[in-house]
Order: sequence, then structure tokens, then C-alpha cells
Amino acid sequence: APVIVWFRDDLRVGDNPALVHATEAGRPIIALYVLDLISEFPRPLGTATRWWLHGSLESLRTSLLRVGIPLVLRCGPTIDVVRDLAEETGAEAVAWNRRYDPAAVALDNEVANAMHDLGVKVVTCAANLLFEPSDVTTKAGGSFRVFTPFWRAALQRGAPRVPLPLPSDRSNPLKVSGDELSEWTLRPAQSEWAHKLSRVWQPGEQGALERLSEFVDRRLNGYARARDRPDREGTSRLSPHLRFGEISPFQIWHAVRNRQGEDADRFRMELGWREFNHHIAFHHQDLHERNVQPRFDAFPWRENESSLQEWQEGRTGYPIVDAGMRQLRETGWMHNRVRMIAASFLVKHLLVDWREGERWFWNRLVDADPANNPANWQWAAGSGADAAPFFRIFNPIRQGELFDPEGSYVRRFVPELAGLPAPQIHSPWTVGEQRLKDAGVTLGKTYPHPVVDHKAAREMALDALKDLRNSS
Ligand code: FAD
Repeated sequence: APVIVWFRDDLRVGDNPALVHATEAGRPIIALYVLDLISEFPRPLGTATRWWLHGSLESLRTSLLRVGIPLVLRCGPTIDVVRDLAEETGAEAVAWNRRYDPAAVALDNEVANAMHDLGVKVVTCAANLLFEPSDVTTKAGGSFRVFTPFWRAALQRGAPRVPLPLPSDRSNPLKVSGDELSEWTLRPAQSEWAHKLSRVWQPGEQGALERLSEFVDRRLNGYARARDRPDREGTSRLSPHLRFGEISPFQIWHAVRNRQGEDADRFRMELGWREFNHHIAFHHQDLHERNVQPRFDAFPWRENESSLQEWQEGRTGYPIVDAGMRQLRETGWMHNRVRMIAASFLVKHLLVDWREGERWFWNRLVDADPANNPANWQWAAGSGADAAPFFRIFNPIRQGELFDPEGSYVRRFVPELAGLPAPQIHSPWTVGEQRLKDAGVTLGKTYPHPVVDHKAAREMALDALKDLRNSS
């Protein structure tokens, strides 16, 4: 009787505990991936993550074939698909790596129950977080709301385990029917946008491992400073690979474990933020819909359709915000510093509900993640755990001057401003008439006037916060 390995957010062959467990049982293995469009579960993927998933599954199929395991793709309601396959093949067990957000946990429990009813064994493994969210607790046994004590407590649990070896070759693959990946039409046909993404990214395990080693060799030195500069390639860009589990946090941790100093410490701390956000998601149902701090339920957000659209299209008149939003449209990714600036701008300058921004990112980011995206949006809005306080409002002009001092990031993504000198490129309305003319810029025509005045917007945001305080 075969063992089914059900792949989800762990699309890799290396360091895959569920797969290793199944190979150790010495049985034939069926690798399964389920596309559940019917219950659209746990949350329908966005356009960018669908694009990524296609490449990731293609790559997984190749890697699995190398160890003699066919990947079976099936589409349908998850529980029915897993149950049918288990019955059809007379499977002895189903193994998977655990997921942690409450909706996913609930579904996994339902599948486990269905398997128990069939008499099929279920094996679940820890694979995608360095520390199980339920293992990291306060002294009183509760969950954490603040990052630093969380990370301290996590690290006290001991060093993360070493990555597991590749499974050995299987010689007796079973023939099981499944869908063709192309039938799923995860990628839009003939899209200029999709072509651009293919030039920037290589989804799959191989691409992830290459990115990791390139980062460790070339960019880890200097990371602590360069990570805040959108004009430089200062970060690892591992986020979409981690999102789909093409690489495990254990593999990343061990690639840098012997490195000392602020760069390596900072990088490990960012992995810690990922752990923290999953911990928050594990303990908060519907993180993408519900404020972690309920007092924000009464926040006077504005219905501001036109401003939301200007923000989405990168036409707010604030160059650093627009550059970020266009980087997102063009590449499916945005630099972390600019994500923070753009999110703060939507929420605090335009007073648009953070959920609108979260949804846009969810649809557009190749790394759109059920824990990291809502947790970071709530962080930016002030409604999250250990969030930036609402009254701390980023000044988008100053942020641009500080983190894109030569203006090269803006020039790249907002080419109509390329002729402006730094630092005024971050506030085109301060540039004299003649200079603007020489650069071919006509405000209100070739590039928009600011949608809001920074100072006035700041006052309004602080007033809204006062209203919230008075009402709670
Ligand atoms: P590196 O600097 O190389 O960091 C290494 C890894 O650490 C990242 O791949 C990521 O897994 C983790 N990490 C880094 N920064 C953070 C952070 N602030 N929070 C949690 N984990 C972090 N990240 C996502 O993976 N998915 C999202 O959907 C997402 N949405 C975001 C939305 C907003 C509004 C903001 C402000 C941040 C968001 N982030 C999200 C966090 C962060 O911007 C990205 O993880 C980071 O930019 C990815 O680039 P990198 O891999 O080069 O990062």
C-alpha cells in the first residue's frame, strides 16, 4: 500500500520531513498537490501567486521525478480529493507538513478526520517554521504580542535542527492519473506582465537555492545597512521562495549559522519576524480581516475610491510611493522599506482602511503570504501586534531622501521624473519652473500633483486618531 505525501506550502524535495518520513516507510510514494477552487481555500490565490505556483509546481515535478516519484495534480474540494485518492490507491498513510493559520489548521483537521474514518494513518511534520508557534509561550503559557520577548523565548528553545538530506531514489513509481498543469491556467496567456515576471524570477527549489548561495556569498556582508536601500540589491529576495516553501527556514538558518556580526544577526532577526508573524496568525483568526487591537474597529476610515486607485496605479504625486507601487506592478515584489512607506501612506495620508491595501498586495505580490501580509499591514496601520504606533507618520519626502538619496530607485520606476536632480526628485513641486521644463516634466500633466498635502494629511490623521481615542 502506498503513502501519499500531500504537498501544500512546501514545494521542495530537500529538507522535506513529510517526504523523508514517507520514504523511510519503504512503500511506493504518491506526491499530491490539490488545487481547491471550489471552496477557494484557504483564501483564493492572487494573480501573482498563481503565476508563481505554476512555475513552482513545474519545478517540483522535475525534482520529484529525479527521485522516481510522480507528482499527481488534482483539482477539487480538498477533502474529497484526498479521500478519493486514498481510496482509489488503497493508501496506507497520508503525510504532510503542517500549516499554521487557523483556517488551514481547521481544514487539515477535517482531512485528518476523514482519513481516520477510512482507517488511513495520518502523519504530520514540522517543516516550515523554525519554531512551532504553540511551543513558544510566555512564562504563563500564553502567546506573545511583542517581537523581542517572542524571539528571545524562541531562541531559548535551542538551535534549529539541521536540514534533512534528499530522499533516496524510488524505483517503483505507481501510475496514478491526474491533471495537466496547463489545464489549470494559472498563468495568463500572452501577457506582457507575465513575461516581465519571468525575466525577474525563477520559481522553484533550484532558483531558491541559487538565490540563497548568491546572497550568502555576495550580499550578506553589509546587509544590515543595505537592506534599507531600495536603490540597491541589498536583500536576499528569498520571500516568494519561502512563501511556497521551495526552501526551508532551516536551510537558510544553517547557511548563515556560523556567521557572526551585525549583518548575520540582522538577517536572522528578519527570519524571526517571519516566525513572529506566523505566531500572531496562529493565535488570531482571520488576521486579514480582523484588527488584532479591537479598538481599531471604530477607526473612521474613509471611502476614498479615487485615492485608492491613484495609489494602486502609482500616481499619488509622491515619487517614492509611486516608484514602489509601480515596482509591485512590474515585478510582483516591492522593497521592504518602500512597502512600509506605501502602506503608511495609504492608511495615514489617505485614511483608507488597511484591508484595501492588504487585498491589493495579496493580489499583486509574488510573496503574498497569509501571515506576513496581513501582519505587516496591521503593523503599518497601528492595529497589529507590536505595531508602529498610529501617530508615527512617515514623511514620504524625507523617507525618499534618506533611503533613495541619489533618486535612482525613483528614476528606474518613475521614468518620467528621470531628468530631475536629487534630492528634489522626491518633491518635484519644489523644483523651479525652468528645471522642470528642462527635465520635460509638467506637473499635473506628465506627472501628478500630490494627491494630498503632507502636512494637512498628517493633521487629519492625528485628528482621526483623537476621534478614535475619544470613542474608546
Ligand atoms: P530579506 O531582507 O532578505 O529577509 C529575509 C526573509 O526574512 C524574507 O524573505 C522574509 O521571509 C523575512 N522577512 C523580512 N522582512 C520581514 C518582515 N518585515 N516581516 C516578516 N518577515 C520578514 N513579506 C512576505 O513574505 N509576504 C508578504 O505578503 C509581505 N507583505 C508585506 C506587506 C507590508 C505592508 C510590509 C511592510 C511588509 C511585507 N512583507 C511581506 C515583509 C517584507 O517586506 C518582505 O518579507 C521582504 O521585503 C522580502 O524581501 P527579501 O526576501 O529580500 O527580504
